[in-house]
Amino acid sequence: MAPRPGSGVTLDAFTDRYAQRTHGMTASEIRALFAVASRPEVVSLAGGMPNLSALPLDAVGKLMGELVQTRGAQALQYGSGQGDPHLRELICEVMALEGIAGSSEDVVVTVGSQQALDLVTRVFIDPGDVVLAEAPSYVGALGTFASFQAEVVHVEMDSAGLVPEALRAAMARVAAAGKRAKFLYTVPNFHNPAGVSLVESRRDEVLALCQEAGLLVLEDNPYGLLGFDAPPTRAIRARSTGAHGHNDDVLYLGSFSKTFAPGLRVGWVLAPHAVREKLVLAAEAAVLCPPTFNQMAVADYLSTQDWQGQVSAFRAMYRERRDAMLEALGSLMPPGTTWTHPAGGFYVWVTLPDGLDAKVLLPRAITARVAFVPGSAFFADGSGRSHLRLSYCYPEPERIREGVRRLATVLEEEVELRATFGSTGPLRAGRPQSEFPSPDLA
Ligand code: PMP
Repeated sequence: MAPRPGSGVTLDAFTDRYAQRTHGMTASEIRALFAVASRPEVVSLAGGMPNLSALPLDAVGKLMGELVQTRGAQALQYGSGQGDPHLRELICEVMALEGIAGSSEDVVVTVGSQQALDLVTRVFIDPGDVVLAEAPSYVGALGTFASFQAEVVHVEMDSAGLVPEALRAAMARVAAAGKRAKFLYTVPNFHNPAGVSLVESRRDEVLALCQEAGLLVLEDNPYGLLGFDAPPTRAIRARSTGAHGHNDDVLYLGSFSKTFAPGLRVGWVLAPHAVREKLVLAAEAAVLCPPTFNQMAVADYLSTQDWQGQVSAFRAMYRERRDAMLEALGSLMPPGTTWTHPAGGFYVWVTLPDGLDAKVLLPRAITARVAFVPGSAFFADGSGRSHLRLSYCYPEPERIREGVRRLATVLEEEVELRATFGSTGPLRAGRPQSEFPSPDLA
């Protein structure tokens, strides 16, 4: 349809023809941010892009070249819908590092763990079904749940991860409302966006609660090997062995995006045996098979390179950046600001001084050349406005310090304004909020 004259807005002529499920499909706040945050003058503490500067690109290029030369006819051909059998074997070795004894028969290779989220939701969720999910939750998972018209019920976390009591209470509320919860979505290690991990002592309790209630656990674990201080914690999946050695309680999601390369888009699900076939059928309907070349490249990387040494190098790099961010926050943030202390992964979750709203602050921060993700992106109901997510994975330590310095100045100004004029609400110095540059345009 032609643009409305002078509006610069193209009306969507398809509105009355879209499927119901598209109503939940709205652009995430992170997506709008990427356009702005990628400008060189902005210090982006927003996106969670892994930093690939430490990857041995020569070695990766060589193994990919050899793959085409020696096994090109296979690598460039369609493959199995479930994924390359050799890679599935190697994936089991990766999972063993977190105590998981899974069979390669029960692994389904996916196009990143994002597709695994899609497949699991597709297979289990009818419109209106409840998904229990941590408060806050990974924005990409919330997008998937919304696109299948799930109702997300958030469950509180604290510095030790998901709170079992809160889970029990949420389950009771869902049952009292006569609704059906299908699974608990949890990121137990180095949570995106909260930066906390589910402590060992709570893992069995969370699993037992879900088992009692007949709820599956969807354990999403892309950051598990990126712990700075200690070896990986035993996965929830590793704790659950059913009657005949089968595990029917946990669907475990893994990914090579953070330990190798996100551009290859290789992730996986380890599913209960019965669920595996449904996931494969759903995957075949979506993509026929995951990319053969990429899977074989990952398999070659795992079997010919010191990939665990490489993960150690990533850990050291991220740890240095985490330290830079925590030091800068500690010395620069105004009183009343608090934040989590991640022991791994990419993210710090910040709680603002009383009354400050991260969404209102964002355009001001971008004007001050620093970007973050407002907390509301990580709540299905748009709450969480007094929080924001900072990521330290990508920028150099010096840029991280500079970014935090810029953010601290914005927060200080806001705190001062509130002290002088009371609640600044949506207005500031008489200027309506809508006139502040939108994240897309600033
Ligand atoms: N789960 C979580 C918690 C994530 O943070 C991400 C990526 N940021 C994903 C899943 C998806 O990762 P990928 O599809 O690249 O494996």
